[in-house]
Amino acid sequence: MKKHLIGAAVACALLGACAAPTAVSGPSHGDAGTTVLRHFTLFDGTGAAPRQDAALVMSHGVITWVGAASAVKVPSGARVVDLGGKFVMPGLIDSHVHLGVDKGLANYSVDAVEAQLKLYAAYGVTAVLSLGTDQDAAFEVRRAQREHPNGMARVYTTGLGVVYDGGYGGLAGLPQRARTPEEARALVDAQAAKGADAIKLWMDDGFGDIPKLMPYSMSSAVISEAHAKGLKAVAHVYYRDSARELVDEGLDAFAHEVRDFPLDDAFLAAMKQHHTWQLAATLSREASFAYPKLPFTDDPFFYRGVSPDVRARLNSPAFEEKAKADPHFPMYYGVLRTAMENLVREAKAGIPYGMGTDSGLGQRFPGYFAHWELELMVDAGLTPLEALTAATGSNAKFLGAADIGTIAQGKRADLMVLEKSPLDSIRNTRTISQVYVAGSPAPTIWQTCVARQAGACD
Ligand SMILES: [Zn+2]
Repeated sequence: MKKHLIGAAVACALLGACAAPTAVSGPSHGDAGTTVLRHFTLFDGTGAAPRQDAALVMSHGVITWVGAASAVKVPSGARVVDLGGKFVMPGLIDSHVHLGVDKGLANYSVDAVEAQLKLYAAYGVTAVLSLGTDQDAAFEVRRAQREHPNGMARVYTTGLGVVYDGGYGGLAGLPQRARTPEEARALVDAQAAKGADAIKLWMDDGFGDIPKLMPYSMSSAVISEAHAKGLKAVAHVYYRDSARELVDEGLDAFAHEVRDFPLDDAFLAAMKQHHTWQLAATLSREASFAYPKLPFTDDPFFYRGVSPDVRARLNSPAFEEKAKADPHFPMYYGVLRTAMENLVREAKAGIPYGMGTDSGLGQRFPGYFAHWELELMVDAGLTPLEALTAATGSNAKFLGAADIGTIAQGKRADLMVLEKSPLDSIRNTRTISQVYVAGSPAPTIWQTCVARQAGACD
């Protein structure tokens, strides 16, 4: 990608965390041959406590052995990486993104999708579920990378989600509007025929600005048609009452939190009874509206991933004025707090939950937002272990992706190596040392400097 220049030096100095270079011995492979990682602390994505001084072997993209460093047998010819106490975890999975539409529908293309997938991978996000704005390019990329992993985040997609005609959701210009339950079923069938991984619908009216909420006759048609095709149904929700109806209709997951009222025990019991997931709380999305000046624009972990003009726009007085001029601006902080509190209520009630950001659109930035989301989940009251499990093993479980999300023999070697343990402080997810996609190293964000000369971010 022309726009994705890689910096020459890793900016470890910015982290103050990696003075000693990683010791590497054995032949160096540019491909995904056999690599042994050893002497690291392992978080395996299942929710189990970390294991000290672990090792793993990965060969041709797959983890072939995991255990104690003292027990590892190094295959002949393998590349050996001594990690000296660093931290290894599964690559993150972001269960709510939008691919290839950040520069408008006119620029939607395989290149636009792949530019974002590279950026996700640079941030250690090695799989994404794209929710409802995908046309053919996302399916093409998915098909190609499942045959030959290409060093980018792995794509899961719902294709085009169902929007009630005249109502909230989707993108203007995409053929995803339904007037009747029959038209909604036809849209679902078309996504299923393309091989969609799930089905998306929107149930919202934008704070009442759009006086048309999807009728329940349509949402129930979408959900039942998805299930008839063997697919899960995922909904954009906002209101408690319509979300409650969707639970009864058999919806599989919420792609945002309920944000108007606290969830009470009866609501939580219904979610539990119907096995409804809180797939994505999108706390970072809500936070991005609550701040008139975004709190991360001068953080190199962020600005390495965007062009200088994007950063200048976010730092401009005009951006702040526009945010404050939004008539709903005074509500956003309360909306965020309600979302945070509802996520913790669900977690305490035993409702399964994942991690998702709604990144890829507007001021919601691929990859960076996954790290902010994890931080906000912990700010809300989850433990780092719970937040990281949501973002790895739990998200994979919802996707039915048996080969990713955890570190075990037979799983795909999608890994993130960190300088410091995120179980000690969740912000340590930012100390990215290495990313592996299907066993091959991918450039990390600390080696990336989008839309500038190599080294311009150092
Ligand atoms: Zn979304």
